[in-house]
Amino acid sequence: MLKLPSSLERVINEFGKLPGIGPKTAQRLAFYLLKKDSVEITGLSDAIRQLKTDITFCSQCHNMAETDPCSICADQNRDHTLICVVEEPLDALALDKTGRFKGVFHILGGVLNPMEGIGPDKLNIATLQKRITDNHATEIIIATNPTLEGETTAMHISKFLQGTDVKVTRIARGLPMGGDLEYADEITLSRALEGRREY
Ligand code: ZN
Repeated sequence: MLKLPSSLERVINEFGKLPGIGPKTAQRLAFYLLKKDSVEITGLSDAIRQLKTDITFCSQCHNMAETDPCSICADQNRDHTLICVVEEPLDALALDKTGRFKGVFHILGGVLNPMEGIGPDKLNIATLQKRITDNHATEIIIATNPTLEGETTAMHISKFLQGTDVKVTRIARGLPMGGDLEYADEITLSRALEGRREY
């Protein structure tokens, strides 16, 4: 019986573990790489290997970074009293790309989802509370996605800031309901930031 070389099978197997990659695609990718020269293959494998060794997480905002604190948290020209709360690193990246936001970010690492057992303790909420105090925050912009879980999370954060001097705002709803911040274009995101409303 004809059998694939084990090194090829190993690559197919590894690709198959990636999200959105079925067995057919895994095979196609492996055969594609087989036709490439070794310089390109080395470039790819080096990039993957360095992913974990060269990336750390900022202890202040929890964003992925090459240094701790990250370049945004270390930047004294940014307004550290203005904190934009997002779900994931890619959301911060998308908002920062607009060039309209001069504050700092805080990555929650997800959203509240009681059905899946994700309570406040599973998110970076305690560190957000500490940061609000440490930075003498004046405004918290909640930029979670416009989904049910995103709204629940926004509500939770606004609740624990009720009665404090901190202004809590929510980005405008120019974003489609159920949409994903990271895929919104820069103009939509800029408008959403500018049109934010007080909670
Ligand atoms: Zn940071």
